[in-house]
Amino acid sequence: MLRRIVDFALDDEGDWTAILDCGHPQHVRHNPPFINRPWTKTRKGRQSKLGERLDCLRCDRLEIPDSCRPAGRTPTYSDATAPLKLLEKKAGPTGVWTRITVLAGYLHLQTECLSDPQALSPAKPGIVAPGMHYRLAPLAGARFFLTFYATPVADWQPS
Ligand SMILES: [Zn+2]
Repeated sequence: MLRRIVDFALDDEGDWTAILDCGHPQHVRHNPPFINRPWTKTRKGRQSKLGERLDCLRCDRLEIPDSCRPAGRTPTYSDATAPLKLLEKKAGPTGVWTRITVLAGYLHLQTECLSDPQALSPAKPGIVAPGMHYRLAPLAGARFFLTFYATPVADWQPS
């Protein structure tokens, strides 16, 4: 999944990492002659790369970044009480990861990354990456709630 560079940080070994808008860090080493990124060496060089996109494999694997902080949760809903707004097709909020916890029954999660809906259950929670389009369909008897995790760069409050 393509993500925008929003910041840079040094890791524990002194190598530069790009901080992406999903919250994941990604190494941008300058290691000639194999990897040439002389721009990492200067502040001006790094700043010139802000806003560029990198492919984030951790997003493809749906790993919630360690840097995320809990940012609230919905009430527990059933298939009968879930608000329509929650069930319609939409994009996950920018800079916010969503975890879908099922307490009972089953829920179908359709995302743009999968051709078939995923069946979520108490043993199998669902994860939606920031900006990913998705749709939820609870089956009869389902009880579930959503938990939100904001990246450090996200300016977001649950509605
Ligand atoms: Zn990512």
